[in-house]
Amino acid sequence: MKGILSSVGKSGKNIREDVHLIQDLLNHKIKRMPGEKRLIVDGLIGPKTIKLITKYQSIVLKMKKPDGRVDSGGKTFKSLYENYKVTPHKLTPKVTMKYWEGDSARWSQDKKLQSLNAQFRTKVKAVVKALKNEGFKPKIFYGWRSVAVQLELYNKKRSKVKFSFHNATLKGGIPNSYAVDIIDSRYAWSDKPETKKFWEALGKAAKDNNLYWGGDWTSFKDWAHVQMHPNSKLKSIKLESKQAESM
Ligand SMILES: [Zn+2]
Repeated sequence: MKGILSSVGKSGKNIREDVHLIQDLLNHKIKRMPGEKRLIVDGLIGPKTIKLITKYQSIVLKMKKPDGRVDSGGKTFKSLYENYKVTPHKLTPKVTMKYWEGDSARWSQDKKLQSLNAQFRTKVKAVVKALKNEGFKPKIFYGWRSVAVQLELYNKKRSKVKFSFHNATLKGGIPNSYAVDIIDSRYAWSDKPETKKFWEALGKAAKDNNLYWGGDWTSFKDWAHVQMHPNSKLKSIKLESKQAESM
């Protein structure tokens, strides 16, 4: 979880991008505070934002002495951030980028899904659902990953390319991955008969959804890997991403 840099609200440090995020989070929870109005998300602290933080603490968190402040990693922040569905286009680029920082292998399943291209995401959800229905425990290991992480994998010979479908981005560097790595959380990449069964089921579910599976590759079997497009499209996706990033 990527949080705020410092405190927001009454006697908080109130850095603009932190306030921006908290205002957005409060608006997402507005229905839990009957009679309260949504805040203008401008990143500027004021009596309305402080009042709403206080309300949230007393109504939702049932705090006896609400202090009107959200601390990084504190109870109020954790509660506000719960189930938060990010809509990147609504956030300022700065806040968005902070959200997408860090080790993407450690993101929640939800966040990994968010890092996928929207059309691809729908298909991946169908794949995950199909596998669950068959009794597997599918886990997304990687959705999107940064070019820096990609280079590390390349150097460790765990990937054959310096730019992969996992690295695709939208304008401003927002993740837009066209690839996903899915494992069964019980077996991961272990050398067991069950693991092989899972790979086979993954390959089938992927192809049922018109996706491409790394287990079909001849030179380098990438069992967990599923992608939206054939490898021949990698060049044009790379170009698109490069152009989007510089916009
Ligand atoms: Zn992959």
